[in-house]
Amino acid sequence: NEMMLEKSETLTSEQIVELTRKHNYGTWRFQKGWNPMHIVDAEGCYIVDGKGKRYLDFSAQLMCSNLGHKNQVVIDAIAKQAQQLSYAMPGYATEVRAELSKLLVEVLPAGLSKFFFTTSGTEANEAAFKIARMYTGKTKIIARYRSYHGSTTGSIAATGDPRRWAMEPGGKGPGVIFGPEVNCYKCPIRHTYPGCGIACADYLEHMIRNESDVAAVLIEPVVGTNGVLVPPDEYMPKLRKICDEYGVLLIADEVMSGWGRTGEWFAMNHWGVVPDILTTAKGITGAYVPLGLCATSGKIADFFEDHYFAHGHTYEAHPMTLAPAVAAIREMQRMDLVARAKGLEPYLRGKLEELKAKHPSVGDVRGKGLFWAVDLVKNRTTKEPFGTYSDKVAGRPLLVDQIAGKILADGVTIQAWVSHFIIAPPLIITKVQIDF
Ligand code: PLP
Repeated sequence: NEMMLEKSETLTSEQIVELTRKHNYGTWRFQKGWNPMHIVDAEGCYIVDGKGKRYLDFSAQLMCSNLGHKNQVVIDAIAKQAQQLSYAMPGYATEVRAELSKLLVEVLPAGLSKFFFTTSGTEANEAAFKIARMYTGKTKIIARYRSYHGSTTGSIAATGDPRRWAMEPGGKGPGVIFGPEVNCYKCPIRHTYPGCGIACADYLEHMIRNESDVAAVLIEPVVGTNGVLVPPDEYMPKLRKICDEYGVLLIADEVMSGWGRTGEWFAMNHWGVVPDILTTAKGITGAYVPLGLCATSGKIADFFEDHYFAHGHTYEAHPMTLAPAVAAIREMQRMDLVARAKGLEPYLRGKLEELKAKHPSVGDVRGKGLFWAVDLVKNRTTKEPFGTYSDKVAGRPLLVDQIAGKILADGVTIQAWVSHFIIAPPLIITKVQIDF
């Protein structure tokens, strides 16, 4: 009888997919045609579907499962915290918050020492904008095209890619203006590196000079979803200097580029540049629970000693989100995953360059650490992409999605976006798995 009861209560794989589809929104897509894959298990660099088929997770899900799946130390930390103290108001002091704060001071770029914890990257950016506006008394944020900063009102307004369009029937979001992205493969202002003298940074300076009321410049140090755009080495020091000269804050959105992904704890470390505010999420817990972080410099912290900090959430600094972060960061340190990402870079780069040499549709491969893009073009000279965002929102099939579907059938998950793939495996990946 017990077995029969269990059986009648167990949903079939088809029912699970159908109930998911029927009652949930599939995001950034038409609802018609959404046929979500049923996932039942995951371990290390693999996920398993409802039919028992194993896939190599070559994108760390959404570039977040950096530790791989089923890390026992993180799982134990969650269980222990749940038993000890599952919730406390953010106004209280908790051991886990103290412990994580101490650890963050160790691993973040030097000087970022005062924190606001959220439950997502988008909220970390919302906090950053409010803090920048309160601190400077100014309102405008200069962001860049080909960027993504989150889906809520403020962070989508600051998003330079076309996902913003659905939110702006009346024009741009409040207080945000956009400058050129840095993209040496397809320079938006038609220069060529290194002869350009980093004209894209000069353009941002031009904007600051010609606008009133600029509070901050917001960047993804290495642009993620929009194609893993790595700036030339001169860019970041130059931008830091410009921001200092005009008294404008520099906000680095390291939601995707942080936590070892690029072969440094944070991408900004590649250039030895410390932002005034750093936001992050994703890899901070290895994606075991949702956690975002807005980290600010000492001068901002000092300001709020005598100024009202007008921000907060019920679930800010939730103990259940902090305990796995402590465990995940310690696991990263124990396994030396940042060095591992850096060490595997030449190997992964070599494999992707082989692909480019073999295949005329691969226009460019670029990246850092274990964070790479494979850019597809119809023609290597014109660099015409295989698809556009307009194709996506019009429901026209995209070649990248079709290829990603074939790769999935062959047992590998990767992220496809408009006309490129993002390769971002868990940082525990092996060379044999990269070969596969
Ligand atoms: N910023 C960047 C650079 C991101 O890549 C993302 C998500 O992909 C976000 C912000 C938003 O983070 P979340 O999805 O956790 O809200």
